[in-house]
Amino acid sequence: MMDNSPGSHARPACTNGEDDIAAALSTSGVDQPRIERAVREILAAVGEDPDREGLRETPARVARMYAELFSGLHDDPRQHLRKFFTEKYDEVVLVKNISFNSMCEHHMLPFMGEAHIGYLPAGKVIGLSKLARVVELVARRPQVQERMTESIADLLVDELEAKGVAVVIEATHTCMTIRGIRKPGSLCVTSAMRGVFRSHLSSRSEIMNLIYGDRR
Ligand SMILES: [Zn+2]
Repeated sequence: MMDNSPGSHARPACTNGEDDIAAALSTSGVDQPRIERAVREILAAVGEDPDREGLRETPARVARMYAELFSGLHDDPRQHLRKFFTEKYDEVVLVKNISFNSMCEHHMLPFMGEAHIGYLPAGKVIGLSKLARVVELVARRPQVQERMTESIADLLVDELEAKGVAVVIEATHTCMTIRGIRKPGSLCVTSAMRGVFRSHLSSRSEIMNLIYGDRR
């Protein structure tokens, strides 16, 4: 008799479902066996046979993939911003073209693009790689681009107490390119301005020039 229960192909030696769940939860915070069951159900619902050879490993594969794509739900981006150092640098710090992949929460389809983050420090400066790490963590959860942009800006304001923060995100949404209105090549741009970049037009144009300058 073949055991077709979800997870049986990934870990054939383990037959105890509860141990499976506990192990998955403790390693990633994501209940992978539950995803496996759901994916089997979706395959059956669209009229496929989840047990045919090509699909047999799919639920386990998708579960591992979701654990990776949504790992940001189980990691606090603030902890990376708390590793700042004190520096008497009071000019703009800008990191451009931080690439990311995220998952549109409306369609569970990926959107991907680049984030540009600029801030005007007030004594607290962060390692440049930490900015990329924060983008990564905020991206790896069910997301909408507008909220992603604002939450990165707010995190920087909260943790660095910067005089100004500017976050611009440009992304392509596969929910717009492969389905629905099907507009390949369309780019969605969002921005969040805080502090001086919000209140002072000259500061805002300066940061926007730094972000877009070389493209004009
Ligand atoms: Zn969408």
